[in-house]
Amino acid sequence: MADQVEEVKAKTDIVSIISEHIEIKKAGRNYKGLCPFHSEKTPSFMVSPELQIFKCFGCGESGDVISFLQKYEGMDFGEALKYLADRAGVKLTPLSFKGEGEKQKLYEINNLAAKFYHYILLNHRVGLPALNYLTKERGLKRETIKTFNIGFSPDVPLALKKFLIDKKRYSYQDLEKAGISYRRGSTHVDRFRGRVIFPLFDHRGNSIGMAGRLLPNTKSQAGKYINSPDTPVYHKSKVLYGLNLTRKDIKKENKAIIVEGELDMISSWQAGVKNVVAIKGTALTEDQVTLLSRFANEFIIALDSDIAGDEAAKRGINLAQDQGVDVKIARLGKYKDPDEMARKSPKAYKEALEKAKSVWDFLIDLTFSKYNQKSGEGKGKISRELMPILAAISDEIVQAHYIEKVAKGLGVPRDAVADQIGKIRTKTKAETPKIAIPKKAKEKSRRELLEERLLTLAFQSDPKILNEKKTFSLFNTPLAERIIEEYRKFSKGKKKFDPSEFAGGLPKELVQGFADILLKDVQDLVERPETLDFELKLVTKELELLSIKDKLTNLGQEINEHEKKGQKSKLKEAEQKFTKLTEKLSQLEDDESRSIIH
Ligand SMILES: [Zn+2]
Repeated sequence: MADQVEEVKAKTDIVSIISEHIEIKKAGRNYKGLCPFHSEKTPSFMVSPELQIFKCFGCGESGDVISFLQKYEGMDFGEALKYLADRAGVKLTPLSFKGEGEKQKLYEINNLAAKFYHYILLNHRVGLPALNYLTKERGLKRETIKTFNIGFSPDVPLALKKFLIDKKRYSYQDLEKAGISYRRGSTHVDRFRGRVIFPLFDHRGNSIGMAGRLLPNTKSQAGKYINSPDTPVYHKSKVLYGLNLTRKDIKKENKAIIVEGELDMISSWQAGVKNVVAIKGTALTEDQVTLLSRFANEFIIALDSDIAGDEAAKRGINLAQDQGVDVKIARLGKYKDPDEMARKSPKAYKEALEKAKSVWDFLIDLTFSKYNQKSGEGKGKISRELMPILAAISDEIVQAHYIEKVAKGLGVPRDAVADQIGKIRTKTKAETPKIAIPKKAKEKSRRELLEERLLTLAFQSDPKILNEKKTFSLFNTPLAERIIEEYRKFSKGKKKFDPSEFAGGLPKELVQGFADILLKDVQDLVERPETLDFELKLVTKELELLSIKDKLTNLGQEINEHEKKGQKSKLKEAEQKFTKLTEKLSQLEDDESRSIIH
């Protein structure tokens, strides 16, 4: 197993994998880009081709190519390994990871069932009423039906059994596990029988389950819509319908249109709104927000329900805002839902999406439109509904803007609204969720920073200077000293320095420290010999100053001791040393310039 992981990693280039997902540019010996794991405007996400690792100096995320895929794609270890092995042409031995085989089987069953239903819909007479319904009543084109692999499950007891069990040799247990059939007494029932089938995929295109919808005028005890039950591959709260097809468009636009159901999504897509997904409900879950925010910083919510009254929907919006997503709401006017609007007036639909308002404007306008803002009673109702909403705005400038807006609408002084909010704030303080702050390394001392800087400059240009005694004596933190020791051993008899070879031979506890040094972005300095030289001198000088100061402190204590004990000759010696060092210090200090350390 460990060998296979190493083999896959050796045949994989982290730079090419990461650059398929986010934009990274060459910066000296590393690559850098905007971090996909926290929101930032200047790049602090670094990738090292030499060490085959990444690290973000903003939020601290770091790891190798497998952990990148785990974090970015939401794969588990086995999935990431398999994905890379397939690309690299490495055959993994089947027993290498448990669980993976089972998931694969469930994907296959779901996929085969979906294909079977799709075939019935398009080619079999029992699928005809459903096909007519989809094309004539719902306005779907044949091409669209094919793209989304829509199908029909006939209301015939043994249809699926004949195909999946008799022909494909799966067992009833397999079908139950995949969620497509269940046991009733001694018989097995096709869960989706008599329904139009919308196959569900994860964002990587794995077939994970399905949604079934009854044709109009059919009766069932199970309700109009049903979904696969949760299985090892299907989790309702994680699915974003259509994302496997639209993730590229969403990424390109940096904007995701969010609708409620499968048909809303498909009709939008068919009308030319390609950057769309369906959440299969009214509330965005945390998993959905995390996944989708990797592809877009702006969500436009086009739900048919009255979201102001829907607490779950509001929670979902808050979740997204907490993760730094800009959330807007589109109003559909007289249309019932995005499906209807996209079919009847694609132009108006696109305009409505263009004109989507910030969620705050939307909620405020909606509340004002519900009550009479002229009457005292109306004002009270508006204020009671809006105050908690205003209080929830975490950005103070944005909040001030909306306080103004509400005060104007109510015809009351701004301070009256602000005071109300203040009261709510203090009352709810204890319950307000803490917003995660990116983990930051603990504050480093000036000495640690300087030593790290000197090592960075050396290792990213020419580490030979570390062999000089004068340079070596400047360091006194354990990490730096140990790395240099290792370097001196390593470089003996070698002409060229190979960082990956060096890192490969380092003791485990030093690897992370060395990686940080090699990943720091000092390209601007290292590229030009004169700036490199200048910076090296500055850092060296500051370190010298620090060690003189340290020595002076020690000498001061020594002198005190000698005085107390009356050791005259020792005292004299120490005093002379003290004078000499003070002179050296003032010489060095004359030159005021300091290194600029980030
Ligand atoms: Zn980051």
